[in-house]
Amino acid sequence: MDIPTYIVTGINLKTNRKNTRTIKALDESYATKKMEADGFIEPFEIELAPPAPASARQIDYAVNLGIPIPINATKDEMQRRISAAVDNDVDFSNFNPPSGNGWGAWSVAIHKSPEQVRRQERAKSSQYIPLELSAENQTALFTPSDSSREPYLTTLECCHCLDFYRTAKPCKHMYRLVIELGAILNELKEKYNVESQPSIEKSSVVEKATVKGCFLFVVLILYVFSFIFPPLFVISLPCIVVLVILLIKDRNKHKG
Ligand SMILES: [Zn+2]
Repeated sequence: MDIPTYIVTGINLKTNRKNTRTIKALDESYATKKMEADGFIEPFEIELAPPAPASARQIDYAVNLGIPIPINATKDEMQRRISAAVDNDVDFSNFNPPSGNGWGAWSVAIHKSPEQVRRQERAKSSQYIPLELSAENQTALFTPSDSSREPYLTTLECCHCLDFYRTAKPCKHMYRLVIELGAILNELKEKYNVESQPSIEKSSVVEKATVKGCFLFVVLILYVFSFIFPPLFVISLPCIVVLVILLIKDRNKHKG
């Protein structure tokens, strides 16, 4: 949790004038206590300050370490990410998954390094089937390597596993989440596009073949009966001509 910053105005005992201070405190009562300790008296006006943005120095340092920088990163958030990348001895309970710009937080180049490719390969193993998957929230829960631990919560931006803390780069869980979400996307594609259209085409091909077969059968019967009853040749001969034209056309279509 980020410690909030308050903007507190009180009466300075030394000057007897109103002064404003910026104080980091857990809540308003702590903020006024700090003011009193610094020689201020009531009445206090207190206001919650917007969280401080990440400093230019923090951002430079994070870029050097290859740490993703969320949009509107706060100073506290950036501090957490930097210590996660630098220290191996991190307090896991203190970790808040940051909100930001999803998988887009990672540069394309990051996925191409040999160690990242190895993570991607490992992610395909059935060992990493998620315990739970939320396609809507784009999150998953994975079995931790140490069974005494809580399952890892994985988003497209971060993961609760040790590997993510050490490298601050996508871990095998995150790659697996991408694979799972990709599979869902493909399933939907298959359901709504790929399946329906060929089945329509297929059925119309079958229909055409059936009509042709019936026509051929009728013409052949007519032709045979024409020998018994010759006036039928008036119908059967033009039909045979049409049939031959159709067969030639069909052959040309298949050649093309
Ligand atoms: Zn992970």
